[in-house]
Amino acid sequence: MYNPRSLKAEEFICHEEILDTLAYATANKDNLPLVNQIIDKTDSCKGLSHREAAVLLLCEDQQALSRIFAQATKIKQEFYGNRIVMFAPLYLSNYCVNGCTYCPYHMKNKHIPRKKLTQEEIRREVIALQDMGHKRLALECGEDPVNNPLDYVLESIKTIYSIKHKNGAIRRVNVNIAATTVEDYRKLKEAGIGTYILFQETYNKAQYELLHPTGPKHDYAWHTEAMDRAMQGGIDDVGCGVLFGLNLYQYDFVGLLMHAEHLEAVHGVGPHTISVPRLRNADDIDASTFANGISDALFQKIVAILRIAVPYTGLIVSTRESKKTREMVIKYGVSQISGASRTSVGGYADGGEEEDSSQFEVSDNRTLDEVVHWLLKLGHIPSFCTACYREGRTGDRFMSLVKSGQIRNCCLPNALMTLKEFAEDYASEDTKRLALQMIEKEAASIPNEKVRDTVFRHLHDMDGGMRDFRF
Ligand code: SAM
Repeated sequence: MYNPRSLKAEEFICHEEILDTLAYATANKDNLPLVNQIIDKTDSCKGLSHREAAVLLLCEDQQALSRIFAQATKIKQEFYGNRIVMFAPLYLSNYCVNGCTYCPYHMKNKHIPRKKLTQEEIRREVIALQDMGHKRLALECGEDPVNNPLDYVLESIKTIYSIKHKNGAIRRVNVNIAATTVEDYRKLKEAGIGTYILFQETYNKAQYELLHPTGPKHDYAWHTEAMDRAMQGGIDDVGCGVLFGLNLYQYDFVGLLMHAEHLEAVHGVGPHTISVPRLRNADDIDASTFANGISDALFQKIVAILRIAVPYTGLIVSTRESKKTREMVIKYGVSQISGASRTSVGGYADGGEEEDSSQFEVSDNRTLDEVVHWLLKLGHIPSFCTACYREGRTGDRFMSLVKSGQIRNCCLPNALMTLKEFAEDYASEDTKRLALQMIEKEAASIPNEKVRDTVFRHLHDMDGGMRDFRF
């Protein structure tokens, strides 16, 4: 029944295949020659199958684990260098008709204040985000065809792209909204979105149906097949993820990789990003009542194995995680993080005063300047780059750039030039000093002489007030 090329959810995320995979992994988790052979295979940066990755996930041998972490660190460095792409979520509306048992926006929650931003309020949110230095957003919205129809999302995207405040601009809007039709995905594509993000929450159908007892999201197949419809609608950058804590992590880890294999098999390109959210406390949600929470150590192991299993896929971690955890997972493979996030509707312009409409508690409450400062101190390059999708490098065109190793001549310059914008326009004196040092040092390491000269010229032009250079 398992068929990665099928367009039917229950065939490409085949329950029996996941169970067989976990049985195979259990039988082989102490088979060290096989474990080492799988780790060796990641040297070629061609990734791993879901079966191979599952063996590593279940293996508890300390030496093997050290090798996995070392390999993840190496692959991260090879493809992403020390760049970390920055973004912020923007909550448009928390009206929702679904009954998700883990999310405080569920319909039965009668006491959470329901809010939907007007276009004027969106302007205020976007200006607040621009004033921090953000260039890339992830739009978040509950599912409610009456209060938050697609036209509202489309209008909001238009508003966001239109706002030019001082030197600020939002140059890439990613969208995390409920599963929808091919037609709607086409409209989102035409509106100029970057990545379409949809978390699967869990790949286990029975568990999925229990966790989503009511509302359109209850339909497992509709939700699981959403990425195929998005790709049919012309969106070739899609972002997957599961919400760790809802179901057995081993099952969802295998499901996630099978989903990636399916997208690659059918559309020729896997997910652009994978997010690794963990369940958090929220308004009427007590995360400790969910039995499947995972430890920090396990979380790091999952990130490291994902890094070596899908080397070309960006890994995203949000402010659901603490500074300490983020520091670890950045090392082992995370390539994008959010900063200074508010998970409430209207939370940026109101300065976080009214947190009561928030979706979950954040663990990292630092300002964007503090996050940028911290990354620089750790030797990372915070990047506000949005160039790829604006240059049409999406889907497989993006993947071939990564695979060809041209990253140092393209992504590195873009990271440095956008960091320079942040340093000049938004950073504190201390952060600016660190950023300029980093830019000077890294720009000198750009391999291609022509590109290097151009970067130095653009950096100089930026001192004169020019902005938005990109390769
Ligand atoms: N409404 C959209 C949908 O149905 O997919 C997505 C938007 S929702 C704002 C974004 C994600 O937040 C969800 O997909 C879910 O994984 C996550 N989320 C919900 N409740 C959470 C909680 N209590 N802790 C952490 N993450 C949560």
